[in-house]
Amino acid sequence: MREGAADNPVNPEVCPALYRLITAHGKPIDACLGVEGLPQSATGQGTMFTGVNCPAAIGRHQEGFPGPALRKIIEENNIFLELKKRGKKVRFADAYLVDSADELALRRFKSVTTVMALTAPETVSTVSDLIHDNALMQDLTRETIQDRYPDIPMIHPQRAAEHLFRIARNNDFTLYEFFQTDVAGHSSDYARACAVLRLYDLFLASLVRFCEAASITLVMTADHGNIEAMNERGHTRNPVPFIAYGPKGRQLRDQVNSLADVTPAILSVIHCKE
Ligand SMILES: [Zn+2]
Repeated sequence: MREGAADNPVNPEVCPALYRLITAHGKPIDACLGVEGLPQSATGQGTMFTGVNCPAAIGRHQEGFPGPALRKIIEENNIFLELKKRGKKVRFADAYLVDSADELALRRFKSVTTVMALTAPETVSTVSDLIHDNALMQDLTRETIQDRYPDIPMIHPQRAAEHLFRIARNNDFTLYEFFQTDVAGHSSDYARACAVLRLYDLFLASLVRFCEAASITLVMTADHGNIEAMNERGHTRNPVPFIAYGPKGRQLRDQVNSLADVTPAILSVIHCKE
C-alpha cells in the first residue's frame, strides 16, 4: 500500500515478486477493526486465524503474547481446528526448536500461532522436521540458528520455497509465518528493510512458480502495517495487502475486506471431504 511514498521499500525495484502479487492479485484490507489505537500482533493474528474480531472482543489491540481472554478465543476455535473437523490435513511449517509438541506446551510465553498449533498438536513442526527439510525457519535461511545448530546447514531462500512447496503439496492447508518484515519495520533502518524484502522476494518468486505449476492457491496477508512506512517507527493504521493467487484467488479476494474475513473465506473455499 502507500504507493510511491519515498520511505516505502515495498516497491518494484526492491521486491518485484511481492509488488506484483500485491498489485495483480491483492487488495487492501482493514487491520484496525473499528478499535482505537494502533493494530497489534496478538489481536491482529487472533482475528486472522479465528474470524472473531479480537480487539473488539477484548476491548483493545494487544501486542506480543495473547493474554487469558484472547487465548480462550483462540483455544475455543481457530482455522486449524475448523479444518481438522472437516477432515483436512493441516501443517504449521515454521519449525519450533523443540523435540515435541509436549515440550512446546511447557513454554511460558506463547504466541497466537503457538497457542493455535497446540490445539492441534499434529500440526507442530520440530527440530527433527527442520533437519529433514520438512519445516522452515522463520528467517528462511536458518542464519539465526547457526550458533545453536551448526550442523543444520544454511539454505538459499529459493531452497526454502522448495521445502514449503513440498510440505504444502502433502497437506490440505499449510501455514508459514514470516515476521522479519515487522522486525525490520521497527528498526527504522531503510537499508535493513530493503535487505529483508529482497531475501523474502527470492523466496516468493520461487514459491509462486511452484504453486502455479501445482495449482495450489497461495494466500498472504499481514496482521498490521509497519514496513511500508519506514519514517514511522512502529505499526501503522494503513490497510494491509490481502493476496490470493491461484485457482481460488478471485473467490477469496471477493470475500475478504478485513482480517476478520480471512478464516471464514478460506473455510468456504476448502471443500468438505466426501
Ligand atoms: Zn511489530
